[in-house]
Amino acid sequence: MAIKFRGVDFIEFDTLLTDDERLVRDTARRFIEDNLIPIIEECNRAGRFPRELVQPMGELGFFGASLKGYGCAGMSNVEYGVVTQELERGDSGVRSFVSVQSALVMYPIYAFGSDEQKNTWLPAMQKGEKLGCFGLTEPDFGSNPGGMRTRARKVGNEYVLNGEKMWITSGSIADVAVIWAKTDDSNEADSIRGFLVETDRPGFRAEDIHGKWSLRASVTSSLSLQDVHIPAANLLPKSGGLKSPLMCLNQARYGIAWGAVGAAMACYDCALQYSLFRKQFHDEPIASRQLVQEKLAWMISEITKAQLLVLQVGRLKDQEKVKHQHISMAKRNNVWMALECARLSRDILGANGVADEYPIFRHMANLESVKTYEGTHDIHTLIIGQSVTGIDAF
Ligand SMILES: Cc1cc2nc3c(=O)[nH]c(=O)nc-3n(C[C@H](O)[C@H](O)[C@H](O)COP(=O)(O)OP(=O)(O)OC[C@H]3O[C@@H](n4cnc5c(N)ncnc54)[C@H](O)[C@@H]3O)c2cc1C
Repeated sequence: MAIKFRGVDFIEFDTLLTDDERLVRDTARRFIEDNLIPIIEECNRAGRFPRELVQPMGELGFFGASLKGYGCAGMSNVEYGVVTQELERGDSGVRSFVSVQSALVMYPIYAFGSDEQKNTWLPAMQKGEKLGCFGLTEPDFGSNPGGMRTRARKVGNEYVLNGEKMWITSGSIADVAVIWAKTDDSNEADSIRGFLVETDRPGFRAEDIHGKWSLRASVTSSLSLQDVHIPAANLLPKSGGLKSPLMCLNQARYGIAWGAVGAAMACYDCALQYSLFRKQFHDEPIASRQLVQEKLAWMISEITKAQLLVLQVGRLKDQEKVKHQHISMAKRNNVWMALECARLSRDILGANGVADEYPIFRHMANLESVKTYEGTHDIHTLIIGQSVTGIDAF
């Protein structure tokens, strides 16, 4: 049975959005419904990134959506948020692609780049003509990126990069990689800088990680840099210290907090519709049983709370008042909530819950990665703990 998404709004949440925000949300929703939903299960099965959607997503202004100038859409943070919600309602892998392109590649070029770097990359990336990836994680350093081993050595008018990066979204399809590396031209704490590395430079290699049970419609690669020479002008001049990549992650985590709501909505709405037509005992729908209703009531309550949390964080971001711990709370809560909704929804569908005729298991598997990347659930717990106690417990 084909289930069509109907939207999820229990407390007239839509009235908290402006006309423009609703318009952006509805445009993204229609795009996903018409273009991604029909192909996503095939992509997920085949482990294929739907590259054919890159150009149309660029035309809709999804890349670098909240940046100003360079052809970018100049959306507010809430407008950008409702776009990522709809993207992830379709698939977390496709939302990941957009987050990386926007928050992890275009944003650092915009925030830390020279005019020349901005003019070279941002207009082409906004259209989706050039793709990017973000290399922070290494095989031995994930939650603690400050331990990274990748090095950039200044030699005359060049930098020479050496190191390994792991779990890099869009690694093998990127034209440019934002690589975070330690330099030897300042003290250890400030020595982490961002570099733009064109992926066709000799010594740069990207190899895809196969066998993922999660984010199968997204490309994930390992990167190897062996004596990669880049002009000194490829350094992102305003990057400095670990706080620079963390600023990028904050942008991306904000989009994830909205995206997770989208994945939860997809699972909940599917389970609700299924429970109303699926009949078991006494020829009555399973939705008429208290235990099933309890699951649905839990999900709609948590989705509603998550919507309000992320909307407030978005409003603060638009007023330039947001703090990183606010974004950590939204990412941590909303991804946890979405994963719980996916598990409960999977349960309501019984055996059908494990089949890819329905989207739930795919969302559930995707959300396991979303829980881990961009700061694991537990790392965000420590960030919130540090914020309320003033004590660092890492
Ligand atoms: C599909 C996918 C795509 C990704 N894309 C990118 C990308 O584009 N670019 C990029 O740079 N990275 C990317 N990542 C990497 C991701 O950000 C890391 O996996 C993440 O930061 C966690 O690091 P780790 O996997 O090394 O786990 P670890 O850091 O080894 O953590 C393992 C466990 O230990 C816990 N832990 C660690 N430290 C503490 C502590 N102090 N106290 C309590 N618990 C702790 C963690 O919470 C976790 O449960 C991606 C990952 C995935 C799965």
